Amino acid sequence: MKLIFLGAPGAGKGTIAAAVGKAQGMPQVSTGDLFREAVKNGTELGLRVKGIMERGELVPDELTIALVRERLGRRDTAGGYILDGFPRTIPQAEALAAFQRIDGVINFLCSEQVVVRRLSGRRVCRACGAIYHVENMPPHREGVCDRCGGELYIRDDDRLESIRNRLRVYREQTEPLIGYYRSRGLLHDIDSAGNVEDSLVQLKPLLQNLQQGT
Ligand code: ADP
Repeated sequence: MKLIFLGAPGAGKGTIAAAVGKAQGMPQVSTGDLFREAVKNGTELGLRVKGIMERGELVPDELTIALVRERLGRRDTAGGYILDGFPRTIPQAEALAAFQRIDGVINFLCSEQVVVRRLSGRRVCRACGAIYHVENMPPHREGVCDRCGGELYIRDDDRLESIRNRLRVYREQTEPLIGYYRSRGLLHDIDSAGNVEDSLVQLKPLLQNLQQGT
C-alpha cells in the first residue's frame, strides 16, 4: 500500500506514521527526517538545507523531489510505504504522480491552536528520532529517550517564530493539496486533535478499506 500522510506541522503525521509503519512493516519515508539526517552528517545536501529548515521555509522542489525519487527507488519501498511530509507543494505532487501510483492520502485535521501547543512542547531524540512531548507524552526521565537512552533536544524549527512561519507556509503551499487529492478521489480525513490512540482508531478502518482496494 502506498500512502501519503498530509497535514499541518504538528498535526501528528510523523508520530502516527511511525506507529503504523512499525505495526504494518511499512517503511516511513519522512523528508524532514531525511533532511535532518543530511544536516547531522554535514553532507552537501545538509549544508544547503540547514538554514532553510531553521527558518521554517521549504527546501526547493527540485532537491526534495530528487531525494524522494532516490529513496523510493530502494528495494524496501517496493511493497509500499508511508510518505510523511511529502508532497508539500503542487509541483511535488505532480512529480510524484509521474512515477508512483498512490493508493490513498490521509489528511490529518487539527486546529492551529493545538498544533502550536504540540510543537512548542515537542522533544526529539538526537540518536533515534523518537518523538516526545513535555506534557502529552513525557519520557520517563526528563531529557532522556525511553527507547535508546539518547539525548532529547528541541528542534531549531520548533521555536515560536519558526512555528508561525511553518504554519504560514503550510497554508499557502501545502493546503492546496487537499483539493488536489480530493478531486482525484484519494483523500480521507481524520480528526487528529485528540491523542495518538484516537487517531489510530479512526485510521484502522480506512487502512483496511484501502488494503482491500489494492
Ligand atoms: P513538520 O511537518 O513538523 O514541519 P518535517 O520534519 O516534516 O516537519 O519537516 C521539517 C522541515 O524540512 C520543513 O520545515 C522543510 O524545511 C523541510 N521539508 C520537509 N519536507 C519537505 C518537502 N516535502 N518540501 C520542502 N521542504 C521540506
